[in-house]
Amino acid sequence: MARRGKFARLVDDFVATVGELGGSVDPAVVAAELQARIDAIAAQLHVTPQTVLRTYIDDEWGREMATTMMADVKGRAAKPAGPPEHFAARVAGRLVAALGQAMLYATTNGDHQQPVPAMDLRQAAEAVSGLGLAIHEAPPDGQIVTVGADVVAWTRTTLRVFRDQLGAGTWSSCPCGEQHGQHDTDAAVLAAVNNDLLLLPMPGPDNGEVARNPGAED
Ligand SMILES: [Zn+2]
Repeated sequence: MARRGKFARLVDDFVATVGELGGSVDPAVVAAELQARIDAIAAQLHVTPQTVLRTYIDDEWGREMATTMMADVKGRAAKPAGPPEHFAARVAGRLVAALGQAMLYATTNGDHQQPVPAMDLRQAAEAVSGLGLAIHEAPPDGQIVTVGADVVAWTRTTLRVFRDQLGAGTWSSCPCGEQHGQHDTDAAVLAAVNNDLLLLPMPGPDNGEVARNPGAED
């Protein structure tokens, strides 16, 4: 009976949390998902499902999984709309490299440990994946890659945060506290990021309209 009690409580927590966050979900679906998870862990650890539920499934599972799921749903709904953009393949490659530097600086400077990180690493990672997939899916002869508006927006947001942190001197290539030439490196990187931002189409004054930057390639 203990197993049934905890299982039912986890499902109830999940359903209640989704409801509090403005969604709805079928308890039977939640129960099936939880049971599948328990069975998979049991198979992997060679223990019984009862042991998994008692020992390996946290009491907070329902609330935490529901919160994560609702954040994912809202994240997808918040994707910027708009037509896809076209980039020369070497431009897309350059943007991937710039995003990599942005994430490297964010990590080096402990941004993810701040109470309110300046950079949304998840968006940055989505931008890297989106650009990488666009390059991969380019036509065989293709020097032109097609990138979704959401990926373009995440790239722009990430590189703007990078530019602003470099410009303010908040982030450094080496934040050890001593001066050994980082300033020159950081100034060069800032100049490069400013150029990289010119490769992106400029968003219009309204959130919907997207006007092409005259300097960008077609
Ligand atoms: Zn140093």
